[in-house]
Amino acid sequence: MNGCTKFDYYRFILVLSLFSILFSHLPSISTAATRTDLQKFQRSIIDYRWQLNPKFKKIKRAKTSYIIVHTSELGLNMTLKVISKGKRLSSGGRTHGGHTHYVIARDGRTYRMLDNTIQADHAGRSMWNGETDLSRISIGIELVGYHYSPITMHQYRSIGALIDILQGVYGLGDRAVLTHSQVAYGFPNRWFKKNHRGRKRCAKNFIRANAGLGPTWTYDPDVNARRLAADPQLAEVFYGRRKLQAKAGEANIISKSNTAWSIAGEDYDRRTTVYKLPNGHIYTGDRISDKIGWGRIPPKTIVLLNQDTGIELTRDVGPIKTIPVGRTAWSLAGNAYNRKTTIYFLPSGRIKYGSMISNWDDLPVKTKIIIGYRGPFKIHKDRTAYRIAGVKYRDRKTIYFLPTQKLLAGNNIKNFNRLPSGTLVFLPIS
Ligand SMILES: [Zn+2]
Repeated sequence: MNGCTKFDYYRFILVLSLFSILFSHLPSISTAATRTDLQKFQRSIIDYRWQLNPKFKKIKRAKTSYIIVHTSELGLNMTLKVISKGKRLSSGGRTHGGHTHYVIARDGRTYRMLDNTIQADHAGRSMWNGETDLSRISIGIELVGYHYSPITMHQYRSIGALIDILQGVYGLGDRAVLTHSQVAYGFPNRWFKKNHRGRKRCAKNFIRANAGLGPTWTYDPDVNARRLAADPQLAEVFYGRRKLQAKAGEANIISKSNTAWSIAGEDYDRRTTVYKLPNGHIYTGDRISDKIGWGRIPPKTIVLLNQDTGIELTRDVGPIKTIPVGRTAWSLAGNAYNRKTTIYFLPSGRIKYGSMISNWDDLPVKTKIIIGYRGPFKIHKDRTAYRIAGVKYRDRKTIYFLPTQKLLAGNNIKNFNRLPSGTLVFLPIS
């Protein structure tokens, strides 16, 4: 009996330890891709290298120590264009593309932009653990999206697989995977007296665990060695005791804790950074200090980065907004893009509610958007615009969608008696 109990006891311990081994491995079993998964992923990568600007100078990389993750702050089409062809610089010159090795779209589709062996021009002024100019020694991966909007699970699955493959090729561990915002640094400016972190906000919303990545740096080696000053917000995100990474929802809207600096980094005073004030006024970053002053930007001002295409496109008058080339539903509606009260009028004539949109990057250019609306209410001979909208039927905020697919505000309609039956009316909430 005694022996039997003892035997049972050891068997119990054995089973227990087996279980604990199993469970300790469970997370990696569920996130790690199998070999066939990786091969399938590798075959699915779209070759975009042929689009590279011929003026881009190809230099072989001597070593590969890091993988740097970015967010592009643009939709897919503009991301592919800028990365392969280059962009205008505020100095007046321009770059010749080759700005990353891989691009991952919102739906997880992955593009190869440059040979792995070549240096991509992606990290700019950067430093990690005393080494500088990380473009020389790293692979760059660009996630399509904004540093203040969540990265999709499709993207996490693809970047997880891609990092797995690259780690195998270059013999890198999880600590070799860093975000651009972690490694970029800037020279002294109005916010910092010495060289400092915070030049870039890129991929500060990247949640490592979602990409199957394990533990990483718990401190910034260059801040610890006093080579650089910390950026308080980024330090909290990456090394704080309370991880702030999931707080991507704080978005691109100015508040007490979300300053121009914490949203735009070194781009805060660029011509390509656009500030949309709550009163509707729009200023580019280079005019803020003259027009408003950096300490006096009102709360609720919206900040848009990478607005190379100029300020004109941002100037949307009235409640009907149109997605121009180079913009996305996110840059117009922010995190309201997938609300039921955000209504999209596609060029095809289809109407979609935000609740039907899973990917803000899917909406075609020239799609029109109204935000904060309910409807449709259909006009017919017994139900006039006045019956539906009351005294506000000619208001600029009352929106009419004609059977001809024309979208009009109430103040732009001359003869309400001639509004065709079947016209749809949308009314603002509140
Ligand atoms: Zn970046």
